[in-house]
Amino acid sequence: MADPMAAAAGAQPEPASTVDYRLVRAHVLHRLKSGSWAAEDVCDAHPELVRAGREVGAAAGEPCPVCEGGSLSLVSYVFGPRLPAHGRCISHAAEIAKLARRKGRFTCYEVEVCPECHWNHLLRSYVLQPC
Ligand SMILES: [Zn+2]
Repeated sequence: MADPMAAAAGAQPEPASTVDYRLVRAHVLHRLKSGSWAAEDVCDAHPELVRAGREVGAAAGEPCPVCEGGSLSLVSYVFGPRLPAHGRCISHAAEIAKLARRKGRFTCYEVEVCPECHWNHLLRSYVLQPC
C-alpha cells in the first residue's frame, strides 16, 4: 500500500525498517466482530489523537472498519532526539523529509483514527531514511 505522505515527501514508501501492524489490526477487528470485545474496548482514542485526526490527518481513503464512517484519518508521529517525549505530530508531509535529514534515529508511527467513533490503531512504524 502506497503511503501518500511518504510519497509526497519523496521518501521510500516502504523502508526496509517498516513494521507492519495490519495483522494485529485484523485480529482486533475479528475479536470485535465476533463479539469477544465491545466497541468501547477498541474505540478509545485519546482526545488529542482525535483532534489530530480531524485537523491534520490525511484521509485514509477507506471507511472506518468499526462505524463505517467516511472520515477515517491517518496521523503520523515522529519520535527521536530533540523531539517532545510524546513525539511530534506531523501536519505536513515535508516535515518527515526534513526530520529525516537530521542527525540521529527518528522513528515514525502511523496511526489510523476515526473522529466519529474513536477507533484507533497503529498501522506501521518505520525508521526515517535520509532522502
Ligand atoms: Zn469509526
